[in-house]
Amino acid sequence: MFPTKVARAAGSGASVPVECCQVCGSEKLNRVLSLGYMPPVNQMVPIGQVPRQQPWFPTDLLHCRNCDLVQLGLAVDPVIIFPPEYPYTSGTTKLLRDNFADLQRESAAMLGLTGDDLVVDIGSNDGTLLSNFKTGGQKVLGIEPTDVGDIANNRGIPTIKRYFGVEVAREVKAKHGPASVVTAANCFAHIEDVHAIVDGIVEMLKDDGVFISESHYLIGLLDTLQYDTVYHEHLRYYSVASLKHLLEMHGLEVFHARPIPSHGGSIRVYAARRGARPVEDSVAKMLAAEPRGEAMAKRLADFRRDVVLSKLRLMAMLRGLKEKGARIAGISAPSRASTMVNYVGLDEGIIDYVVEIAGSLKIGKCMPGTQIPVVDEARLFEDQPDCAVIFSWHIADELAPKLKAKGFRGQLITPLPVPRVL
Ligand SMILES: [Zn+2]
Repeated sequence: MFPTKVARAAGSGASVPVECCQVCGSEKLNRVLSLGYMPPVNQMVPIGQVPRQQPWFPTDLLHCRNCDLVQLGLAVDPVIIFPPEYPYTSGTTKLLRDNFADLQRESAAMLGLTGDDLVVDIGSNDGTLLSNFKTGGQKVLGIEPTDVGDIANNRGIPTIKRYFGVEVAREVKAKHGPASVVTAANCFAHIEDVHAIVDGIVEMLKDDGVFISESHYLIGLLDTLQYDTVYHEHLRYYSVASLKHLLEMHGLEVFHARPIPSHGGSIRVYAARRGARPVEDSVAKMLAAEPRGEAMAKRLADFRRDVVLSKLRLMAMLRGLKEKGARIAGISAPSRASTMVNYVGLDEGIIDYVVEIAGSLKIGKCMPGTQIPVVDEARLFEDQPDCAVIFSWHIADELAPKLKAKGFRGQLITPLPVPRVL
């Protein structure tokens, strides 16, 4: 039932092409989009360093014609894509903090959680999600392999610093008892051996325990042309249907699903052992709005056409500005900016610099794959370039008023879904 012919990238120090579906094992994989070769998004060299050779990896999206999962065509060793010097902490973004508070409120009310209930978070990062459950009175435990787990431990969120799998799940259950809730927020698409993760989750859950996952949403990605979220950390792009299919392979049933705003459009999906919880109407409603089979293939072909057009449109807009002698900056350097910059072909001749908020670890480095410098935001207000492209365009509504309030007088441009001046 599960994919067997799978070489693993983890531990290889390199990459492995995806030749059969990561979930169902089918070899009927259609290439729906190729963004070309990309540098790892966290590979940023110091400004002024003599350029040296760097690895670039093919970045293709594949569609499984058997189970409709959309997935990356290459798995890269996590050692390469998660370098320890750029720890990502989830507590730093207001939108994500608010979302995690909402997750606790919603689930505690729906499941009637009390002080006896244990909540385990996989990929618990700095403990931001669990801190909400702790405040809510639940027992909490985080599992986080990177050094970011130390931050959680220091703030009183007990965190095991290990890679999650069935073995860790058994140890957790033996020591702490079965979990009422297991959460995985935005790491469920990152881990190569997804079946081992789900096995471990099922192992930890009480008989009526609930697994809550949050993932970037494929349909939202297609609707708003977010090809820039395609990079090597993101191995799978879930719909409710493909997630449901995966969980059903392990005896879990999806009983509630809803869209949430994180990362420009995500889904929160609740699952429990088959028959343990009544299935809410929300599941059928979301499934009904998702294309399947031939309709999905057609939707993906349209997406590819629109992505190519969006690249040409952005270039045309920037060409017009450049011909008038405009100076162009970039606003913020999230991981997704790396995909956009490299796919569209932006370089330091087009974008003078990209600004990040003071304190960002990216300041003083170059955008991946380019020599575009990343500098302190203060530069934007002193320099007043004619225009600035907002690379974190998915939160432009929040950013644009702030930039204007701080004194930026130039034009602000959002590059997606359609390039436009705000
Ligand atoms: Zn498949």
